[in-house]
Amino acid sequence: MKRIWSSILVLSLIVVVLAGCTRDGGEIDSKDNGKLKVVTTTTIIADVVRNLAGDLVEVEALMGPGVDPHLYKASAGDVKRMSQADMVIYNGLQLEGKMGEVFENIKGKVIFAANEDLDESKLLDFDTNPGYFDPHVWFDVQIWKSATQRIAEGLKTLDSENGVKYDENLEKYLTQLDELDKYVRDRTGEIDPDKRILVTAHDAFQYFGNQYGFEVSGLQGISTDAEAGTSDVRQLANFIVDKKIKVIFIESSVPRKNIEALKEAVKAKGFDVKIGGELYSDSTGDAGTPAESYIGTVKANIDTIVNALK
Ligand SMILES: [Zn+2]
Repeated sequence: MKRIWSSILVLSLIVVVLAGCTRDGGEIDSKDNGKLKVVTTTTIIADVVRNLAGDLVEVEALMGPGVDPHLYKASAGDVKRMSQADMVIYNGLQLEGKMGEVFENIKGKVIFAANEDLDESKLLDFDTNPGYFDPHVWFDVQIWKSATQRIAEGLKTLDSENGVKYDENLEKYLTQLDELDKYVRDRTGEIDPDKRILVTAHDAFQYFGNQYGFEVSGLQGISTDAEAGTSDVRQLANFIVDKKIKVIFIESSVPRKNIEALKEAVKAKGFDVKIGGELYSDSTGDAGTPAESYIGTVKANIDTIVNALK
């Protein structure tokens, strides 16, 4: 049974091609401005689609910057947008924990498992839920390259006549992701190894820590669905005092009050910990800021981390 669930849940990126593409068994014909419409759940996925598709498609994210995907419930408008889109792309691995039923209920669709080739050995366990995986794969740039390739495959299936264009864009973007990966490693090198400890609002950075060599601890678990209890705050406060950690981080998609409570708990133990800045966890930054793209988001995070910890 666990195996079956694993197989289902390893489909970290699911591309849903809606009824449009099966009309007449051929290409999409549902365009009012001549462009294919792609709807994504998070801004992170939307940005990848923009990079791969350029102006070939119109892309829209249901969740804006700073929205928590673990708690997000689809509105009637969202369901309408998804059913009118030519393709819907979501992260999966239970990131959109309240939307599973909505995806299942969209009628007349073809589903591609965009991450079916994602190496299961690279996925991290969801600690409290055996058989499930941590969904925050995008902070390991190497894993996110695989996801990007799968999204490109999905777009090519949707819009095969522009296949060459998607391939060209993919190649360019993968080069940029390699540069990003190097940037994160170079900046990490500026921090003493014993200072590479990241304490954040929820457990969104395990893949990041795993790939780039940080010890990571989140106040809330992998999902924000369960509130942090007093024992979680106490345990993490003890950890901070024991390790003499000087800074902790708030997150853009989690209320600040939890980290403030942790800071106070540490203070009650006679130790002072500062808030080292805000990290983008489950979405990109706001439009018009340097962090509006996935690459900008990852750069902003590592810059904030390095400036606070070094
Ligand atoms: Zn999260």
